[in-house]
Amino acid sequence: MQLIDGNFIAKQVLEELKETIEKISPEIVPHIVVIRVGNDPASVSYVSKKQKTAAEIGMKSTLKLFPENVSQAELEATIDSLNADGNVHGILIQAPLPSHINETEIFNRVSPDKDVDGFSTVNIGRLVQELPSAFAACTPAGIIELLERSGVKTDGKHVVVIGRSLIVGKPASLLLISKKSNATVTVCHSRTQNLAEIAKQADILVAAIGRAKFVTEAMVKPGAVVIDVGINRVPDASKKSGFRLVGDVDFENVAPKCEKITPVPGGVGPMTVAMLMKNTLAACLRANGKDVL
Ligand code: NAD
Repeated sequence: MQLIDGNFIAKQVLEELKETIEKISPEIVPHIVVIRVGNDPASVSYVSKKQKTAAEIGMKSTLKLFPENVSQAELEATIDSLNADGNVHGILIQAPLPSHINETEIFNRVSPDKDVDGFSTVNIGRLVQELPSAFAACTPAGIIELLERSGVKTDGKHVVVIGRSLIVGKPASLLLISKKSNATVTVCHSRTQNLAEIAKQADILVAAIGRAKFVTEAMVKPGAVVIDVGINRVPDASKKSGFRLVGDVDFENVAPKCEKITPVPGGVGPMTVAMLMKNTLAACLRANGKDVL
């Protein structure tokens, strides 16, 4: 069994982005604006990680912070002005948004060319059409990058994706069936019957469910590659925070059966931020008429 080291691979990606940014600056400085609503602790932590990483690679980032009771109109007006601002290349709306806000409308308000999270209708359409202008959602793009950089071939392989969310399962499946990845993809979800039997056929198993240790040893073929997207908090009295993070895979029992597996933390997580940076740099290069990475 070999660990797929997401921290190491993300660092490689970020190093490459930093080199490109050094070459184009100071004439061009990629700039991402992050919109955060309220003070949800997970969102605060994700946003600060994104801003810290941007600073490390020489990318400008700006945080636009709104109170929990912000109106739909105010958010839309902010997005409109960022869309019109030539010095802004990427716009990220940190989800989840409060329940009175129509999240889909907010995602769709972002100009498709600045939609570095890839959640808008236009970007998903571009992804389906396999257009080079598509921004793929960052976590699925990170999965592809992890596979490529660990030497895992997807061509003709059977990939089983568990989960069909807009953020992970669906775009991951689209990327994997694309003519670049050429995998045969089965997508499972909460209504799938005989899930264990299907999962066990996978050469590559992607778990994006949001349930701690859901994927057991009995669901994995010997020699499979397992990508664990899940981030779940489980109580742990030995930790200062009172919890620790585990994936969707029962790592201890599944890992010995695998050819390769991602750990949690330190697998897919770091790749998500790296791919956000990559998408933003691509948006910036495109806006400036330069060749994209
Ligand atoms: P989601 O809740 O939107 O989707 C979960 C999916 O799992 C659904 O499509 C559902 O059909 C499926 N599912 C739920 N119960 C199931 C069951 N019993 N059997 C089969 N399928 C079932 O979640 P999400 O946003 O896709 O996130 C999934 C996990 O990945 C979460 O733990 C989340 O925290 C994590 N995540 C990690 C990153 C990262 O950067 N590593 C990014 C996004 C999400």
